[in-house]
Amino acid sequence: PPEISEEIEVLLGWADEIRTLGVRTNADTPEDAQKALELGAEGIGLCRTEHMFFEEDRIPVVRDMILAESKEARELQLAKLLPMQRKDFTEILRVMQGKPVTIRYLDPPLHEFLPKVYELKEDLDKLKEKGASKDEIEKIEKMIDRVVNLHELNPMLGHRGCRLGITYPEIYNMQTRAIIEAACSLHKEGIVVKPEIMIPLVGHVRELEITKKDVNETAKKVMDECGVSIEYTVGTMIELPRATMTADQIAKEADFFSFGTNDLTQTTFGFSRDDVAKFIPLYIEKGILPEDPFVAIDQEGVGELMKIGVQKGKSAKPELKMGICGEHGGEPSSIRFAYSLGLNYVSCSPYRVPIARLVAAQATIENEK
Ligand code: PEP
Ligand code: MG
Repeated sequence: PPEISEEIEVLLGWADEIRTLGVRTNADTPEDAQKALELGAEGIGLCRTEHMFFEEDRIPVVRDMILAESKEARELQLAKLLPMQRKDFTEILRVMQGKPVTIRYLDPPLHEFLPKVYELKEDLDKLKEKGASKDEIEKIEKMIDRVVNLHELNPMLGHRGCRLGITYPEIYNMQTRAIIEAACSLHKEGIVVKPEIMIPLVGHVRELEITKKDVNETAKKVMDECGVSIEYTVGTMIELPRATMTADQIAKEADFFSFGTNDLTQTTFGFSRDDVAKFIPLYIEKGILPEDPFVAIDQEGVGELMKIGVQKGKSAKPELKMGICGEHGGEPSSIRFAYSLGLNYVSCSPYRVPIARLVAAQATIENEK
């Protein structure tokens, strides 16, 4: 566990009195949330939900859900995931005791859940050798067709984020139900929570409109069933250049913006966030890059787009809350940049929270000089 000396605690206390920039954390387990609270986080700025689906007992269910050929068959699998997801959210929201919690809807590259075609083909060969029934063989053949159909060469630029929520609305509907049911049950325990629902990978306002309409419909249904009214908000990640350029339209539908600088860097540079490490050092050496843009916000490209996003967003909705939840949210130069843009908060991994508190205070002091 993190050890913070008394002197540092005092210093961080002074920093908190000075700073105006909020500091939240990225956490998707109750343990991380608790750790971040102890380190001074004021809320969760990003609770990713894809890791929850990777738990051993869930992967096969998620896989069957994605491979299902009808909405009904998908809903059957989602019904199995609902109680698990409700428990996930109840635990995290309980730990946070009414502090803001932004829950980001499922945003996985689909391929990570799919079986491998060669494995299925091996299964098929074995079944044939065993003299399996026509039905059994057909089942695997169909599955292979479906996997081949869903296969993408560039999954990170593909069927993920809200694109998934638009293709299979029942996935996001399950997540909405889980969040609102969790909030209703906590409400009955006397813990008032106001979940912030966040839609990933939005590039155009229609994507937010479509997904938000579903959120509101499902939330209303659940609240009617529970007889409890929950205050929740619906906002969006701003992590694609298109989203920054159309932020004025998106803002009209959004309660908040959260800049996803990981994807925004990937899509602005056209660098894969998973593979770039190989040539970034050379690019720095040759003066093409001042530093690793996945570590510190590139203020020329990504930063300019963020500026546009903030300006356009505020022009449409001056009171719009904005934060940043990419890895950059815990990096000093990026935190100063977030301050200069007038963002409301940064969100970073739990162990970065104390640094973010200090740098946020320094940014205020430097500004007042
Ligand atoms: C981002 O893209 O910056 C982000 C926070 O989302 P993720 O890293 O989960 O894609
Ligand atoms: Mg992202």
